[in-house]
Amino acid sequence: MRTPFIGGNWKMNLSLTEAAQFIDEIQTQLPPSDEVETVLAASPLFLHTMQEHNNSPLLVAAENCFYEDEGAYTGEVSPKALSQMGIKYVIVGHSERRKYFHETDEIVNKKVHAVFRNHMLPIICCDETMGRYETGDHISWMVNQVTAAIRGLDADDVKKAVVAYEPSWAIGTGHTAPADAAEEGCYLIRQTIADIYSDQIANQVRILYGGSVTHENIRELMKQPDIDGVLAGKASLTTQEFVELANFY
Ligand code: PGA
Repeated sequence: MRTPFIGGNWKMNLSLTEAAQFIDEIQTQLPPSDEVETVLAASPLFLHTMQEHNNSPLLVAAENCFYEDEGAYTGEVSPKALSQMGIKYVIVGHSERRKYFHETDEIVNKKVHAVFRNHMLPIICCDETMGRYETGDHISWMVNQVTAAIRGLDADDVKKAVVAYEPSWAIGTGHTAPADAAEEGCYLIRQTIADIYSDQIANQVRILYGGSVTHENIRELMKQPDIDGVLAGKASLTTQEFVELANFY
């Protein structure tokens, strides 16, 4: 019922030439979009070139945007401009944005609204730390974070959102969450959405796991009932690994 979603997040990596070559190389190796949705998020500087090279089911996505559509916001990325470029997905609230750019739950929520207002879909990231995980505080932390991120959304929008469970202790560390812990986080997100909206809505939302995903652990993760896909950082930087992720099944 929920189409698997295999997402990559390049972050601030690769060059423009490498980005174009990457897209050329994977062209013929991705599954059809009705079987698996494949999405690669990159720097706004690369998006146009990636789109020009792309002739495959891949969707080119943005890693971030601002919450206003236009105006005097020097250096920001306009959601309206992304939409005009034909971008469908924007990552919002990644833990690196929260950590280095001080994005609060309120800012994340404003960005989620901006993405929908501009006819795109957010990939909403929710994180938690090892400290919280070990003390069990991660449950209320996650519930609050998800609740804040989707506050004020119509049910019709929520069901189209993608939400990622990304424990910060697993991001870029090489220590992926064990499949049962990843499932627990994704289940918690789904239950939070069900409590606010309904089971019917929550069952339509695609929930991803992110944090040191590789071709070696993806199958176990994707077997979990509440994990509909992954958001991969490092593993999305090489064509071979990304293609393997996309063809996980
Ligand atoms: P990682 O990054 O796969 O390199 O751990 C994941 C992410 O930041 O989304």
